[in-house]
Amino acid sequence: MSKPPLTIHLAAPRGFCAGVDRAIKIVEMALLKWGAPVYVRHEIVHNKYVVDGLRDKGAVFVEELDECPDDRPVIFSAHGVAKVVPAEAQRREMIYVDATCPLVSKVHIEAERHSENGLQIIMIGHAGHPETIGTMGQLTDGEVLLVETEADVITVDVRDPSKLAFVTQTTLSVDDTKGIVAALNTRFPEIVGPHKEDICYATTNRQEAVKEVAPKVDAMLVVGAPNSSNSKRLVEVGANNGCRYSQLVQRGKDIDWRALEGISSLGITAGASAPEVLVNEVIDAFRDKFEVTVEVVETAVERVNFKVPRVLRDVSV
Ligand code: SF4
Repeated sequence: MSKPPLTIHLAAPRGFCAGVDRAIKIVEMALLKWGAPVYVRHEIVHNKYVVDGLRDKGAVFVEELDECPDDRPVIFSAHGVAKVVPAEAQRREMIYVDATCPLVSKVHIEAERHSENGLQIIMIGHAGHPETIGTMGQLTDGEVLLVETEADVITVDVRDPSKLAFVTQTTLSVDDTKGIVAALNTRFPEIVGPHKEDICYATTNRQEAVKEVAPKVDAMLVVGAPNSSNSKRLVEVGANNGCRYSQLVQRGKDIDWRALEGISSLGITAGASAPEVLVNEVIDAFRDKFEVTVEVVETAVERVNFKVPRVLRDVSV
């Protein structure tokens, strides 16, 4: 029996960003430099396939520094860490490498600069996400207040409405954040902040590509992990831009075939921590059931590349 035709609109850019690429390289280079085991505090990036691959090479993933021995190197994840974490590693005289994405570090520096100027900070972010914990942890308790929604802006209790600044998590929805920033500007007209927000180039570009693809397709699949903030936002962007079915899948085996019955076009993208091998696995799963034609929908070209920390620059990979 012949297979039904399916056009896959493949969003570009998709998948790995420069910060994720750098963080994975840091773990691989640390393993080459110091041998196994190398400890990694928190999942280096939010993707099980990547984490399992590094674990096979000798990385040990832990949630807290007190799970690491003093005499083995430890790496901090791409999401960033509160100031107390490297301070504790230093106190214990550990070798540590900070894989915080430079675009997250930039937000940390912004928050510190505002605080030095006597401003209290409002962070737009998701409670409990490691990046939010890390950014809020750059300053002492109470100096950074979290808002997640426009409704939170109405109730947030600030010290002095005329001495405020805002920063944002880098992986938020561009559209939702616009609304929250507008609400902040309305309630606190003197608040200072970045030109738009701190959402990074990779998050913005992946959301733009999905906005282009979503209205053209019957369904949208986002390859990514359930704890990946930017992947979850891509699912929402698909749903909010005219796609009746938009879903997150980690692997080919997660595809809900029943929900996709009768489709003739499909959008595929991947979160910033999802490797291309998993995108190909998902496309191959469709090739088993459909006569697939792939069309790439490119809305931006990315050439961003971040250097690894100095301590690892003598390692050749
Ligand atoms: Fe850096 Fe953006 Fe990638 Fe996060 S999503 S690691 S901020 S480039």
